Amino acid sequence: MLDKMRLLTPGPTSLPERVRLALARDMIHHRKPEFKAIMGEVQQKLRHLFGTEGEVLALTASGTGAMVAALQGLFAPGETVLVIQGGKFGERWTEIARARGLEVRVLAVPEGRAVNPAEVAAALAADPNIAGVFVQLSETSTGVQHPVRELAEIIRKTPALLVVDGISGLGITPCPMDEWGLDCLLTGSQKGLMLPPGLAFLALSERAWAKAGSVESGNFYFNLAAERDNIRKGQTCFTPAIGLLVALNESLSIFMEEGLENIFRKQWALTCMARAGVRALGLELFAPDHPAWGLTSLRLPAGVKSSAVLGIAARKFNVIMAAGQGDAKDLIIRIGHMGWVDWADLAAGLHALAEACREAGIAVNTDNYLEQALAAYWQAWNNGYVAS
Ligand SMILES: *Cc1c(COP(=O)(O)O)cnc(C)c1O
Repeated sequence: MLDKMRLLTPGPTSLPERVRLALARDMIHHRKPEFKAIMGEVQQKLRHLFGTEGEVLALTASGTGAMVAALQGLFAPGETVLVIQGGKFGERWTEIARARGLEVRVLAVPEGRAVNPAEVAAALAADPNIAGVFVQLSETSTGVQHPVRELAEIIRKTPALLVVDGISGLGITPCPMDEWGLDCLLTGSQKGLMLPPGLAFLALSERAWAKAGSVESGNFYFNLAAERDNIRKGQTCFTPAIGLLVALNESLSIFMEEGLENIFRKQWALTCMARAGVRALGLELFAPDHPAWGLTSLRLPAGVKSSAVLGIAARKFNVIMAAGQGDAKDLIIRIGHMGWVDWADLAAGLHALAEACREAGIAVNTDNYLEQALAAYWQAWNNGYVAS
């Protein structure tokens, strides 16, 4: 294969060279000064990324580990919570909550749509027992961004805690935790952060820490208070993924050097580019409004399976994109453009998509689609984004 492999999936993502070189370093010891110094730097940068003054815990786990740690650390069996469920990852909140013995109220959101904040307000007003609300910043299974800022405005006025799975949104779209008033924000390493999978991060508001103090999680590994005590000393409770934390220091340096605003601006421009390209090809966007900034999902015409198109794109162009998830597996294609992806990678992705669709028997309009996509990119880049 002469073409470069282009990983346009919504996690894992490609790694900048600087991060790959950091991953090649030899081990250092996690109880020695060199590691503590790195953890100190990482902590400052993570707080900037999360937009919080509080500690950001670093857990050695995939992103779901942080979801479990947050839910089990903040809520005791028997408590009632509301889950905003608009896709696979919303369902995951429901599953984790049920496994913990919580009383779950599900607010079902049609796939491809964002939650209506007024419905959340109504659900909270109808049931004053609701102790927590769970949502995704970006529902990766459908490519939708939920209006987290508006949700926080409603929820912060109630006793309920707002817990946000930011796994495919943090570092991709603005989500300043303290400013917006989120109670828990968490993410994983392999999406916006340009790292391999294996680390998860979690931060709590002051009222969430107070709530956590009243809950017996029963967890030995994911003990939030113990992790906080350790992070204050540049440590973690157990042997962490040392190599990933060393590499994290590099990837976070990229955020600091480029500036969060410019990273978000690029992500927004990529989102506009992908959507313009998909539309120009005559394909149907799965999320008509409230797009996620890290991926674009499209619905294929009936009769062609996503696996057919994805297989051609991979074999002929070395472009790796994702199918749908769950019931939508065969029906949709998700183009990831989060993290270390630029306009040229996405142009390659759109070209592979167009050619693969054609070969799979889908009628696409290939007149000027790349020109339209690139024009959308540069227009969005020049105009900047409007923070939601
Ligand atoms: C990827 C993803 C997860 C799952 O993360 P893992 O690292 O696979 O455990 C959860 N939520 C969202 C929104 C995601 O995008």
